[in-house]
Amino acid sequence: MSDRFDDLVVLPALGAQLGLDLGDSAAACGRAGAYFSAATVDLDDYDHIVLCMSGGKDSIASLLHLLDLGVDRSRLELWHHDVDGREGSTLMDWPFMADYNRRLASAFEVPIYFSWLEGGFEAEMLKQDSYGRPHHVETPEGLLTLKRDTARAVPATRRKFPQVSASLQTRWCSSALKIDVGRRALNNQDRFNGKNVLFITGERRQESSNRARYYQLEPHACDRRHGKKARRVDAWRPVLDWDEERVWDALQRHRVLAPVPYRLGWGRSSCMKCIFNDASIWATLRHHFPGSLDAIADYEQQFGCTISRERIPIMDLSKRARPIEIHDVEALGQALDRTYRLPIFATDDTLWATPAGAFARTGCGPS
Ligand code: SF4
Repeated sequence: MSDRFDDLVVLPALGAQLGLDLGDSAAACGRAGAYFSAATVDLDDYDHIVLCMSGGKDSIASLLHLLDLGVDRSRLELWHHDVDGREGSTLMDWPFMADYNRRLASAFEVPIYFSWLEGGFEAEMLKQDSYGRPHHVETPEGLLTLKRDTARAVPATRRKFPQVSASLQTRWCSSALKIDVGRRALNNQDRFNGKNVLFITGERRQESSNRARYYQLEPHACDRRHGKKARRVDAWRPVLDWDEERVWDALQRHRVLAPVPYRLGWGRSSCMKCIFNDASIWATLRHHFPGSLDAIADYEQQFGCTISRERIPIMDLSKRARPIEIHDVEALGQALDRTYRLPIFATDDTLWATPAGAFARTGCGPS
């Protein structure tokens, strides 16, 4: 449901605000280089292949599909956006998520570059009469720090949780912490100038009616093939036509164990404390990870505004549903550990299994 809301309401608003085409087929209709179906592309056409790796099943399936297609790994790199940043905040994301992505990349022998908004979700939320913080972008040449253009920006105040809303003034997390970070990472690396870049994300048509109409291959918003930088950037969605069964089949075939959130019963691998979480997820967090909602409850008090759009305090909301019964003891033991300690691949000791969250429709948000 959250995907549908994003696609029909939030993303069109985001596209308008950022001047981006975020995949609406009507807008893309007739655009040169946009293809509704492009199950395969000539990977040899591209100097750089960037795969946005959230650590969820669909981006992993995208990686596995590239390997099946015989991708030249020397051109491939993974990008992961740290939602909580790297400055000490632990408010939103799964503690192991960064390390999991690092180990996943290492297991497949591909480089991974992290990028983040300084201070992450929490610092952005606490912004008061101040400019946006810099973005930090890992690159092959080292860490880039991209400051804001204070000549053009204006100081702003948030001091409330992003809310499930059409307005990106209120529902700001995906754009501030992911889309904008990726856009600046593409625009500010000279190594992409004069090159062909394939930018890959893991959306699937099955997720919502609007995604069903996405173009599978189209020029990315950062494409400048006709500009001074001569940078061609194509956006490709390799698993767009896949159903969920095919995604899990790919993971099983490659013996990639299901990521921890699915093993715990989550239907999506998004932020642990995503604003789209429903009562059952909040109940699960409160029950299995006591204290994990305290910081959010404290901020609700400070702001006089709840994380829930229904204005129900998180502690009350978490009592409105039964927690998910978690039987996967290993995944439960991993959930709060910053170091990812479980295997990436199935082994003789850790057999591949369809996780509890597969095909579930628990209310948790976009990845
Ligand atoms: S997963 Fe949820 S909380 Fe995290 S950035 Fe996306 S919408 Fe926001």
